[in-house]
Amino acid sequence: MNISLLQRIFFFALSCCFLFVLLVGSVIWSSQSLDLAFSRDNYGQQLTNQTNKLKQLVANDNIYDSNYSLHQWQSLQLKLTSLLKLSPNLTVQQHTIQISLQSQNESLKSLFTLINKNKLKHASEAIKKHLKARLMIQLEAIRSDSLQLSAIAKKDIYNTMESEALFIISVSIASILALLLGAFSLTNIVRKSLNEVKRAFEENSGGDYQKIKLSHHSQEFDSIAEAFNHMNEKLSESTVSLTMMKKIVEDRTHVLEQLSNTDPLTKVANRRALFERANMEFSRAIRNKSKLTLLLLDCDLFKKVNDEFGHLFGDEVLTHICKICDQEIRDIDFLARYGGEEFIIVLPNCDIAGGIETANRIQHSLAKHCLSMDGKAISVTLSIGICMLNEQHKSLDELINDADKAMYLAKENGRNRIEVLPSPNLH
Ligand code: GH3
Ligand code: MG
Ligand code: MG
Repeated sequence: MNISLLQRIFFFALSCCFLFVLLVGSVIWSSQSLDLAFSRDNYGQQLTNQTNKLKQLVANDNIYDSNYSLHQWQSLQLKLTSLLKLSPNLTVQQHTIQISLQSQNESLKSLFTLINKNKLKHASEAIKKHLKARLMIQLEAIRSDSLQLSAIAKKDIYNTMESEALFIISVSIASILALLLGAFSLTNIVRKSLNEVKRAFEENSGGDYQKIKLSHHSQEFDSIAEAFNHMNEKLSESTVSLTMMKKIVEDRTHVLEQLSNTDPLTKVANRRALFERANMEFSRAIRNKSKLTLLLLDCDLFKKVNDEFGHLFGDEVLTHICKICDQEIRDIDFLARYGGEEFIIVLPNCDIAGGIETANRIQHSLAKHCLSMDGKAISVTLSIGICMLNEQHKSLDELINDADKAMYLAKENGRNRIEVLPSPNLH
């Protein structure tokens, strides 16, 4: 059963109240019992006193004398009789004694009446003595019963006090235990539940979205755990989607970067990527005083190719040229499409001789690997301008410009040629 902490507190408070009521009730009950027992004891003592007075009267005075105080006897006797009639509520045992007392009182009365009769004045001394002795015995018997009645009451007082003390101690111990148990159980639930919630928060902040599992159940902490677990579920879902989103964004960014740097037709680097990389190599060469050579390649009479074989075939030719170039350059070299049918190859740590060698390789490979159209081999050629970075080049544009000039020189000099600027006396 899932009960709230408030209900637990209420339950323990109710238990304590019940024990308290029980305690008060028992005190009231025992005080009443004690009152009654005291009144019975008092009654027994009054009977004893009255009997003692009668005994004293009989013992001191000669009851056969003519001046015997009859009046005093009668008043004492009357008091005893009225006492026996006005008894408090007695126990069964005391009630039996009371009946015995009443019958003995009757005997006492008739015995005294007998003694007091005139006829006894003529009785022998022995008879008189005997009757007086019987009177004393009767009084003694009444006194003894009165004492017995009082003794029973005293015993009752003692027993009531003893049982009441025992009961008070027991109920007090039970109340203290109930209080301790309630306090301990509540503290235990609150402490453990708080620790479990704290641990869950720590795990949560470490990225571990585990559910809270409470070892003790209470409505208050169960509702906290439920809200926490719900929040964790949402967090966990959003974290997963955040990770996925990051991955998608990374992938898309990579694709976009590729697209923005790649020529869609030939799949080599585009003009934008060319300038980025070429500028970097230009700066590095200046900084390191290293060599840097640029090849500018232009397809010869490409318009004619387009016109004769169609634009699509022209596209195929451009892709083919790129493939050949890519095969003939080093890993550190960089090929890019500069314009329509013009390409640039950046050759870091490469001099004019290296540039010429690369250009030659490309031209030979292109001559070797022709494309075919309707079973007919179509060969295309390249005019290549080469320029190596020197102290006169203040920017990349100037270097490209010189390479462009060299390429135009190759066109002017008959196409399918390699020209170098400034002329190195190699050609
Ligand atoms: P030259 O030897 O003097 O360079 O003659 P050319 O015919 O190559 O002359 P020009 O450079 O003026 O012509 C280039 C042509 O390349 C023009 C254009 O139609 C064509 N071209 C440019 N880009 C593409 C392309 O992406 N695909 C195709 N198929 N043709 C293109
Ligand atoms: Mg051109
Ligand atoms: Mg051309």
